[in-house]
Order: sequence, then structure tokens, then C-alpha cells
Amino acid sequence: MSGALPVVAPQAGCDRPVLKERGQREVFCGLTGILWLHRKMQDAFFLIVGSRTCAHLMQSAAGVMIFAEPRFGTAVMEEKDLAGMAVLDDELDRVVQRLLARRPELKTVFLVGSCPSEVIKLDLNRASERLETQFGPDVRFIHYSGSGIETTFTQGEDACLKALVPRLEASHETEPSLLVVGTLADVVEEQFLRLFDALGIGPVRFLPGRSARALPPIGPETRILLAQPWVNETARALEDRGGRVLQAPYPLGAEGTTAWLAAAASEWGVDPAHFEAVVAAPRDRARRAVARFRPTLEGSSAFLFPDSQIEVPLGRFLDQELGLRLIEVGTPHLDSQFAQADLALLPDDVTVSEGQDVDRQLDRCRAARPDLVVCGLGLANPLEAEGIRTKWAIELVFTPVQGYEQAGDLAELFHRPVDRARRLAV
Ligand code: SF4
Repeated sequence: MSGALPVVAPQAGCDRPVLKERGQREVFCGLTGILWLHRKMQDAFFLIVGSRTCAHLMQSAAGVMIFAEPRFGTAVMEEKDLAGMAVLDDELDRVVQRLLARRPELKTVFLVGSCPSEVIKLDLNRASERLETQFGPDVRFIHYSGSGIETTFTQGEDACLKALVPRLEASHETEPSLLVVGTLADVVEEQFLRLFDALGIGPVRFLPGRSARALPPIGPETRILLAQPWVNETARALEDRGGRVLQAPYPLGAEGTTAWLAAAASEWGVDPAHFEAVVAAPRDRARRAVARFRPTLEGSSAFLFPDSQIEVPLGRFLDQELGLRLIEVGTPHLDSQFAQADLALLPDDVTVSEGQDVDRQLDRCRAARPDLVVCGLGLANPLEAEGIRTKWAIELVFTPVQGYEQAGDLAELFHRPVDRARRLAV
């Protein structure tokens, strides 16, 4: 039994050199965040104000996931709209009117900007105010941008949650409460709730929760744990409202989850012996689940292309818990404040890169001939054709991977391609 909580020192690891690149990039735009946000917030609708391209992207990305009437759609802007020949406000009002007549259960409508709406400077702020005057207080209208000009892939969630922050009530609590920020699958949320409860940490709330209407309060007694590494602008907005972010690695694997829980336990003054008693069984179960895959992966080399911003905590997991040898960990944006705990745990000899110049990065990857590449869909096929094994980064966003009970599933995602390559080579 340890005599202290396994808390990571927040100031460690900040002075690592970072290769910054600003060239052509291969990532989805922020609209894609709607795919997991709409499943989480069950009383919300996401209305994209965009083009047919945006609608096609969402339909093909969501094609396999829709099992009921979806809670997102696209108000398609035609060529005459883009040329300023139509009164877009009236058209948007008509689309919203039809939507609410058909779906009276909706309580929040997100108006989501896209490249076309940004280019013609469509004022979605004014549109949401106008629509809220018309349909409020029953229905709230909140706007944010998922445009590929302004956001990459997971930044769409950050923009959405940040837009909710001004709607949070000011908290007058005199005792600390915990706010977990970043979308988690319901099953993972329930597992964390049970652990926090057993540790005596609470009240615990989630942003986003299952309702976009029932928002958590925020104030000086709110302690914040980030569940996803891409919600940094939201975190800053919450800090501006008085909350305080607890520095911790992200809850991936047995060790990441333990350190993440320990950051809250330390804040609540949980006795280390009690902490150990609560986490020992699930942590050891997670360690055993991960250890099953370590013999295949240990010593193999890995190269992570920038995709979702999960790359730094993922690199920490792959190195520390599976023994992979990291060559490069690329991330679209490196937030040195909120990534620092994981950054500090990466080995010194790994290249950390921010942004992308895809051709140069591909050259580095080909020269290194890694055993495994984690990358977006667009790069996976060409690399596979060159005999380099890949793992689609998007699976890490759509699969529940956080927490003890998912640690084995997370490890297995990387085991499969390496194992398959070995079998084929025999
Ligand atoms: S928002 Fe921009 S990048 Fe995204 S699908 Fe629409 S046009 Fe393409």
C-alpha cells in the first residue's frame, strides 16, 4: 500500500522541444463532433448551416450509426444564397419552424456554422437571438462554428461546449464540487460516478450531460477534471467563471485513470489508504487486461499522426503501459497547460510535433518504417499499400476508451494490426 496519492507534479515536462509545422493537413473539420455530441445530449438538435458537401460529410460519417431519427441535419445553402441573392434569415426561420413542429421534444437547437456560412459572414449570433425571442424560453438556440477554416475534428466539441459556458448558472456552493468536462460514453460516466462516490468525492457533474438544458453550475468552488484532451478552450472559459482545472494525465489505461482519479482525491483530501482500497481491484483488473497485449506490442515502434488531440495522452499510454517505442507523437494543437501532465511522462527521445505539413511528416514516417502508424482515414490506405500497418485514429474517438474497465479494449485496438502483420509475415 502506498503512503501517498500518485499525483503528477503539474510543473513537470513543459520545456520539451516541439516541432511546429504549418503546412497542408489531413484532418476532418469540426462538424464531425456532432456525431458524438448528439448522442450524448439527448434533448438537443444540431442544425448545420452549410452546403451539400457538409451534409454529405455528416451522412457518410454517420451512416452506420443512425438507428433512430437523427438529431442533426443540414440547412443546405444553395448557390443563390452564397451569392447573397436570398434572404437567408427567413429561410433559416422556416427550417427551424418545421423542425420544432415535427420534434416538439427538442429543448436546445445548436446552430452550427460551416465554411460556406463563415465565408458569407452569416451572423449566427443574431440568428440565435432572433430565434430564441421567437421560440424561447421553451427552446434555446446556441451557435458555434464547426467550419473547417476555423476548427479541426475534435475542436468542434470544444467550440460547442464553450458556447454553453455563458448559459451555466453561477454556483453559490460553499463546498467543492467536481465538474468532469468532455463527452464520455454513458457507461464510462457511470463507472466514474461509482468510483468518485466510493472515494467520497462529490457532488460530481458532467459537461456535456445527457440534457443540454440541465447544465451544471460553475463558481469558485468548482474543481474541474478534463476527460478529453480537446476541451481546452472550454476549460479556459470555465476558469474565467471561477472554476479551477486539476492537472492530471487523461484517464487512459490503468495508470492514466489512477493518476486522474488521484488528482481529485488529493483535492478532496482522501486518505491514501482509502484511495488504494477503492482503486486496487479495478486498477489491477485493468493492468491485467492491458498486460495480455503487452507481449505482442512491447518493443514495436509507433508513429502518431495528428488527428484528434488524443495523441499525447495516447503516446503516454502506449509507451508506459504497453512498452511501444514512440518515434513521433503529432498532435493538431498542443495545449502545453492542459497536456503537460502526459507530456511530462513521454520519453525524452520522442519527437513531439504540433500542426502538420503532411508530406514532410510522411517522409519522416517512411524513413522510420514504424511497426505501427496511428493516423486518419485518408493516410491509412496509402500507408497500408506501402506495407506499413496502421490504426485508424477515429476509432479512439468513437470507442469508449477511458477508465479502468475500457483499458483492455484500448490496448486491443493496437494489438490487432501488429498481431495481424506478424501472422502474415510468418
Ligand atoms: S464545414 Fe467546411 S470542411 Fe466541413 S464539410 Fe462543410 S465545407 Fe467541408
